[in-house]
Amino acid sequence: MSKTSQRDAPLDFSGETFRKLGHALIEQIADFYDSLPDRPVTRAKTPQEIRELIGDTELPDRGADPGQLLTELAPVLFENSLHNGHPRFMGYITSSGAPLGALGDLLAAAVNSNVGAWDLSPVATEIERQTIRWIADFIGYTKDCGGIMVSGGNMANLIGFYAARRAKAPWNIREAGLYADDRPLRVYASDATHTWIHKAADLSGIGTDNIRWIASDARQCMLIDDLEAKIASDRDAGCLPFLVVGAAGTVSTGTVDPLPAIAAICRRNELWFHVDGAYGAPAAGLPDASEDLRGLALADSVALDPHKWLYSPLEAACALVREPGHLTDAFSFHPEYYRFEDDEREPRTNYYEHGVQNSRGFRALKVWLSLRAIGRGAYVQMLQDDIALARRLYDAAAAHPELETFTQELSITTFRYRPANLAATDEAAEAYLNDLNEELLSRLQDGGEAYVSNAVLQGRMLLRACIVNFRTTASDIDALVGIVVRLGRELDAKRRPAE
Ligand SMILES: *Cc1c(COP(=O)(O)O)cnc(C)c1O
Repeated sequence: MSKTSQRDAPLDFSGETFRKLGHALIEQIADFYDSLPDRPVTRAKTPQEIRELIGDTELPDRGADPGQLLTELAPVLFENSLHNGHPRFMGYITSSGAPLGALGDLLAAAVNSNVGAWDLSPVATEIERQTIRWIADFIGYTKDCGGIMVSGGNMANLIGFYAARRAKAPWNIREAGLYADDRPLRVYASDATHTWIHKAADLSGIGTDNIRWIASDARQCMLIDDLEAKIASDRDAGCLPFLVVGAAGTVSTGTVDPLPAIAAICRRNELWFHVDGAYGAPAAGLPDASEDLRGLALADSVALDPHKWLYSPLEAACALVREPGHLTDAFSFHPEYYRFEDDEREPRTNYYEHGVQNSRGFRALKVWLSLRAIGRGAYVQMLQDDIALARRLYDAAAAHPELETFTQELSITTFRYRPANLAATDEAAEAYLNDLNEELLSRLQDGGEAYVSNAVLQGRMLLRACIVNFRTTASDIDALVGIVVRLGRELDAKRRPAE
């Protein structure tokens, strides 16, 4: 029989135990941060090797000493993870997570507020509200907007998509679903749009066939004439256009669509204008941001990822909507088991009504702490440094006889290795270069010296460096150039067919 008058709950730590384990762990993490530059970016182990490291055992019946577990597990993570925070990690768009953010997550988990409702999380809800306002302010969006913190760019874009669907469907789509009308709802997005759009069209029932792909140019910038033509022809065919998605930094090249022009088309056609700024939206806060990028201020909704270019540890994303009511219109239901009463004089934000999640963690804290600790000016400086490094890479590659450059947008540079004495640009040479660069990329990614990812532009396999990393310096960029050329030469010497 269970005796609960004096419980012995092994998951409950006294302050003394927590202090001891916590101090030891903090020591290990501090050493890890200091040692990052000297570690390989990754060790590229196989799933089987990793399973052996963590012990491929069944669920234990008996426990183990938590202090020992932490002491032993931390080095396994430090030694076998791919380190986004390594100065030479420039792949995909995953930032070096701010150490302050790690402390923020620890604090948030310790207090363990449920940020689903104001009454359950008074301070956390207000900090989230302020974080959203600060983010909007930073990127030049209206501070009176609504918004919510979510897990990532996919979810933030999904929030915008659902807000659009609710606001623009000519009937109550939340109640009647798609069945009230047989005309298809249509969404317009460039062919360079991130794959979240597939999931949103699928999950919403709208269907991926009702995504109208708008052509983009060689830089992956949306072609406005094609957008207007497709909206017009769909209208003529009796379809229901409802949403246009513009990119504030495409995922492959960081290209910004002509957002003011898209906004004007949306206004004329009464369509929802959503901006996917998962990566690039923070750059709208720079003093020299382009007019195209500043155009995100005209959007009905914006998605952005603090875990990308605001250097927050995963996970943290943010969806903004121009009219706060658009989120509650799209997501609010009032179940009888909640009685979070509102006070008209002093309205309370219950975030479960603003998005998909019910119980919610305090993601905003780590973002708030970083914004609060360094302020706008230092953020501007860090973003500018990342862009300057991406340009340095572009210039160095352009100047090198064995490297060829393609695009440089925001903090993303695309380039490839091209042997100096390769014959002219015929089809066979292009096929060879694709294979060569694909192999080069695998070698680079497995080697642990530096890490970039790829972009495919007009059938060409390119190397792509994205710098959202406050640890990367000019010497890391210069080193990357040297590593790519060395690997390229080695592979070319082995692979080139005799001429
Ligand atoms: C990264 C990215 C996404 C997806 O964001 P996640 O945080 O990975 O879910 C969407 N759109 C763009 C432009 C991105 O760069």
